[in-house]
Amino acid sequence: MKLQEYRSKEILARYGVPLLAGEVATTPEEAREAAARIGGPVVVKAQVLVGGRGKAGGVKLAASPEEAERCAREIIGLDIKGVTVRTLVIAPAADIAKEYYLGLILDRSAKAVTIIASAEGGVEIEDTARTNPEAILRLALDPLIGLQEFQVRRVGFFLGIAAELRRDFGSVLRGLTTAFFETDADLAEVNPLVVTTDARLLALDAKIVLDESALPRHPDLEAMRDLNEEEPAETAAREAGISFIKLDGTIGCMVNGAGLAMATMDLVKLAGGEPANFLDIGGGAKADRVAAAFRIILGDPNVRAILVNIFGGITRGDEVARGIVEARSTLTREVPMVVRIVGTNAAQAAEILRQANLITADSLDDAAAKAVAAASAAPGSA
Ligand code: GDP
Ligand code: MN
Repeated sequence: MKLQEYRSKEILARYGVPLLAGEVATTPEEAREAAARIGGPVVVKAQVLVGGRGKAGGVKLAASPEEAERCAREIIGLDIKGVTVRTLVIAPAADIAKEYYLGLILDRSAKAVTIIASAEGGVEIEDTARTNPEAILRLALDPLIGLQEFQVRRVGFFLGIAAELRRDFGSVLRGLTTAFFETDADLAEVNPLVVTTDARLLALDAKIVLDESALPRHPDLEAMRDLNEEEPAETAAREAGISFIKLDGTIGCMVNGAGLAMATMDLVKLAGGEPANFLDIGGGAKADRVAAAFRIILGDPNVRAILVNIFGGITRGDEVARGIVEARSTLTREVPMVVRIVGTNAAQAAEILRQANLITADSLDDAAAKAVAAASAAPGSA
């Protein structure tokens, strides 16, 4: 889960990272009032979960509250990489002497949490990695010991931090690292970390990405989720306990088990179709979860047919079949549905499906072929 800049800063501030937090505003008037409270020049910043806001016109300096209001009017509603700006942060403006990049990532290839640092800050680190890779330092942390003092010094020297700021730099790097581990983050970065003209270190921009699977143990961080920027289908899936990933095809898939879902998608492709999604309804699926899965699948206007593939182990086939029939009566859009249920109580399931006039299949190959045929026969298909 990606956190907005102001949320990320809220967390980093708790770990002693020096920054100018500012205030959140959602209207030009609020922006003016916030700027008046702050006093002096401010920076008006779009809060969207995409990088490069500066280049897109989403970060502006304002010398007065009136100017802050004008900037806010320009930024609110702005489209940045497909996301509409709704929220702003108004923060005291800093006088920048030098910008750095400092981040920690979970580097799967290094099998270690890795510090990434560069004196070419401010710009996106991916660009520096491409154009000037030797300007980037990567330093893996020992998984048992964590951040060591010699590493703090090494990063500080690499960046060329002035002697009188090295102690402060240590606090920034230690704070960022502790925040990374204690929040179960996948990424924690400050870009830019700046030295101001009056020789202070400040985190001007922050980005934290949390491990979704660790969120159950951080209810306070879960509360920072920004539903405005999440696909509505993904929100609905998460709330129903369904694993869902939207894809671009026309055949909606409803499957129990991640491996079976992958195999189902493969067979859809083998039969000449394209899956519209990955969807795992999980074990012991009951009628309400089946209904939620159908609503999520049918929310995608590209879907022309649905392939249901259930292996009954602990999950009872007849219960899923009943769930399908029940759910179907509540759906707003009709598309052909091919259902394959094998395993526990498969015979009862087949009987229930037959009575409801659903297309059934005995094998997965057969089911995929029928779903692909139904999708290409459906109105609106190419
Ligand atoms: P991003 O483009 O989405 O990464 O947004 P940032 O918050 O990093 O801002 C982009 C750039 O705007 C920074 O690299 C700075 O150069 C500039 N900027 C941001 N805040 C301030 C500020 O307080 N003062 C000044 N002078 N520039 C700022
Ligand atoms: Mn930035």
